[in-house]
Amino acid sequence: MLVCGASFAGLAVARELAGSGADVLVIDRYEIGERQTSACGIPTDWLRATGLMAAERQRFSELVVHTPHGTTRYDLPWSFSTFDYRQLCELMWSHCDAAFETAKVDGRAGPGEGGEIAVETDRGTISAPLVVDALGWRRMLALTDGYQPPDAPLSRGLEVHPAGTGPDLEIWIDRQYVPAGYGWSFPAEDEVRIGIGSFDPRFHVKDTTVLLTEDLGKEPNEYQGNWIPHKLRRGTEGGVFFAGDSAGHCLPLTAEGIRTAIYFGAELGRELRAVVDGERTREEAAARYAEFNDSHEWKFRWMLRAQQLLPRVPARLQQLMIRLCGGKRFVDWSFGHYLRIAPPDALSADDQEGPREQQRHAGDTGRAERDLVQAE
Ligand SMILES: Cc1cc2nc3c(=O)[nH]c(=O)nc-3n(C[C@H](O)[C@H](O)[C@H](O)COP(=O)(O)OP(=O)(O)OC[C@H]3O[C@@H](n4cnc5c(N)ncnc54)[C@H](O)[C@@H]3O)c2cc1C
Repeated sequence: MLVCGASFAGLAVARELAGSGADVLVIDRYEIGERQTSACGIPTDWLRATGLMAAERQRFSELVVHTPHGTTRYDLPWSFSTFDYRQLCELMWSHCDAAFETAKVDGRAGPGEGGEIAVETDRGTISAPLVVDALGWRRMLALTDGYQPPDAPLSRGLEVHPAGTGPDLEIWIDRQYVPAGYGWSFPAEDEVRIGIGSFDPRFHVKDTTVLLTEDLGKEPNEYQGNWIPHKLRRGTEGGVFFAGDSAGHCLPLTAEGIRTAIYFGAELGRELRAVVDGERTREEAAARYAEFNDSHEWKFRWMLRAQQLLPRVPARLQQLMIRLCGGKRFVDWSFGHYLRIAPPDALSADDQEGPREQQRHAGDTGRAERDLVQAE
């Protein structure tokens, strides 16, 4: 089996295969944990459920929301944590028994032999019967469906990591920083991750990332940015399985994509393990994973609607809405629903079938049939 991409999604897939006896090769253009791609914020319960608490850096029980017209503190029903990227990846890797090689993936390499999928890399062609694309938004191993910014459903994010400390998880919904999107400051023990995310891919976030950083009395450094998908895509295509940003698993509105990458990656890993164990064929696993993927479509659609609505609301009304939504009952209700889009108990061994069955019955599964994998 070949897993392309050794970040959240790819490592979540590989982890589920540990102990299965499968011959799993994970490849990435960088060493594991070498290149941080995000502010690394995640619900604490997700770190707990994945056995990754050792990577936690700081925990927050409140979210502080700033607008030009006031500041509101949300008392969260569950806490949020920042973590160390390298340490988290290394921990995930320590739970795997796969092999790892650095290699840059260039794309599909034409039809493989005997139902295998062939992948072109800068170190030669690699073929395997089961191939996962966890390479991020470029979806390198797709046959069609190419996305090119700025004409694709992609947001853009940029952040810096100046040294410093802070007590609060803060966001700014403020058009001086970004017309559609938000700014953030996520402290992580000895550094503060400050950035801007724009839902409009045409808005250049560098100047206002600098502005927000300077407004917070810090010096911008170590720029790190990427495109962020805000639309769910197909879970399988042309014999390949997709998880994480390559399948658009990052949530619209919040741009939270780590727990969803692990959530879908783990589910995909379980399906592939069932193939390795001889319980189902690759085609059956593909149909089941596609169905699981599609059953979340309506949730992503609603989050996208909220993302599209927010920038259209006048600033004073935004502040009023944010304040009114800050009541304990509403915060508990809305954040509870938000967490359940990808709940941490989906990973507990006792509950393996539960979330999948819930998702299957909850959503539109119409596209699943069309996602049936046809090997090249
Ligand atoms: C500035 C910023 C801040 C963010 N903050 C948060 C946050 O706080 N919390 C949160 O939940 N989400 C956040 N996100 C979103 C989150 O980073 C992504 O949704 C998440 O990283 C997706 O995980 P992934 O494993 O699918 O992809 P990635 O983390 O992008 O990993 C892809 C992997 O593939 C490798 N790769 C890519 N191309 C190739 C190639 N051609 N050949 C070989 N290897 C390749 C990369 O090196 C990388 O290791 C943020 C995003 C940005 C841009």
